[in-house]
Amino acid sequence: PSYTKADIKQIVQDEQVEFIRVTFTDVLGAIKNVEVPVSQLDKVLDNDLMFDGSSIEGFVRINESDMYLYPDLSTFMIFPWATDEHGGKVARLIADVYSKDRTPFKGDPRIALKDAVARAEKEGFTAFNVGTEPEFFLFKLDEKGEPTMELNDHGNYFDLAPLDRGENVRREIVLTLEKMGFEVEAAHHEVAAGQHEVDFKYSDAVDMADKIQTFKLVVKTIARQNGYYATFMPKPVSGINGSGMHTNMSLFDKDGNVFDGHDESKNLGLSDTAMHFLGGVLKHAPALTALANPTVNSYKRLTPGFEAPVYVAWSASNRSPMVRVPASRGLATRLELRSVDPTTNPYTALAAILSAGLDGIDNKLEPSAHVDKNIYLMDENERKKAGIVNLPDTLLAALEELANDDTIIDAIGTHITDKFIEAKKIEYTSYRQFVSQWELDNYFNNY
Ligand code: GLN
Ligand code: MG
Ligand code: MG
Ligand code: MG
Repeated sequence: PSYTKADIKQIVQDEQVEFIRVTFTDVLGAIKNVEVPVSQLDKVLDNDLMFDGSSIEGFVRINESDMYLYPDLSTFMIFPWATDEHGGKVARLIADVYSKDRTPFKGDPRIALKDAVARAEKEGFTAFNVGTEPEFFLFKLDEKGEPTMELNDHGNYFDLAPLDRGENVRREIVLTLEKMGFEVEAAHHEVAAGQHEVDFKYSDAVDMADKIQTFKLVVKTIARQNGYYATFMPKPVSGINGSGMHTNMSLFDKDGNVFDGHDESKNLGLSDTAMHFLGGVLKHAPALTALANPTVNSYKRLTPGFEAPVYVAWSASNRSPMVRVPASRGLATRLELRSVDPTTNPYTALAAILSAGLDGIDNKLEPSAHVDKNIYLMDENERKKAGIVNLPDTLLAALEELANDDTIIDAIGTHITDKFIEAKKIEYTSYRQFVSQWELDNYFNNY
């Protein structure tokens, strides 16, 4: 909703809000916030709230650390749950990060996404619309409130209670989201035990990225209130499905959805523009993977046999490829990118995906032929003939792809790219130095 400063002051007074939380997202995708009492509301609304950027992952060095938060007034909302002892209300505003000299900060992922959207607008596209399907697991909390590895149920895809013990928590999540202005379209048990999915209505990319960040907070908060721990980790349990965040997308111009080809006998009903966008996404897929799948654990999900993609390919019907074309046409014509997982920083990932698609449109890139067989059943030779390449299989391999892809680097800027790669290489090295149970099981007795 569009609020003026006066609207917000009025609501804060009427609702007796006690604290304002001003949030933003760091380079690695974590939500950060500064909380101030309402007495500081004017300062917040006048873009005068300062913080120390040197303590934030991927931001700035100590000697240039003063930064400003510029709240986006349309993101104002009051958390529907009681947030302090005596039930006082807390509101939040999502902010853009500005440097000391009051220019937009190049290290702010939200600004990077806004810049990418602005480039699309220059090409005549009025909106990059995105709808995501985040999945997550619910584990039980122990008496001390610490998460255990015990799943909350033994349910399966679309199961009902009593098999699905997550039903009540999920309903509460949905009701809370609705109170916060989300239009929830579906919520269901996922394939794995203890795994759930909640889908909300598509929106323009910046609003969607904001919503994804808010969504995670809501799921974790409501789960905890019900004695569960929610995790968006892509593969918390080996041997069963992991959690993805399928990303459906389309581009609009003043006349509507430009992905709609209006002719189902050609290109599966996709327009030439959609085909070029797809060509761009496939071309840049290896580098995109670093952003869409940014953790060591992400690559344990991208393995054969668990409904997650392993190859760079697309299809209309088959669900094994990275991109699927869902059956809806007309205004709902869209591409579904299935590789993305919920550890992604939605701002940088969407900036990169949009820029990859625009590169495809600008350079009229053609996608490879669509594959309608189960790719997992094809051998390496068949895949080669069909022009199907593998997605990077480790975080390190994906980071190398990112470092070599100028389109994607431009999409998020060199500041974010450098800080991201630096932090992620440290993460990868730390992982590599850890000796796991698998290694002990497989090598200890054999050597
Ligand atoms: N959980 C699967 C994944 O990892 C997706 C399953 C589904 O939504 N059909 O992407
Ligand atoms: Mg789904
Ligand atoms: Mg799903
Ligand atoms: Mg899906």
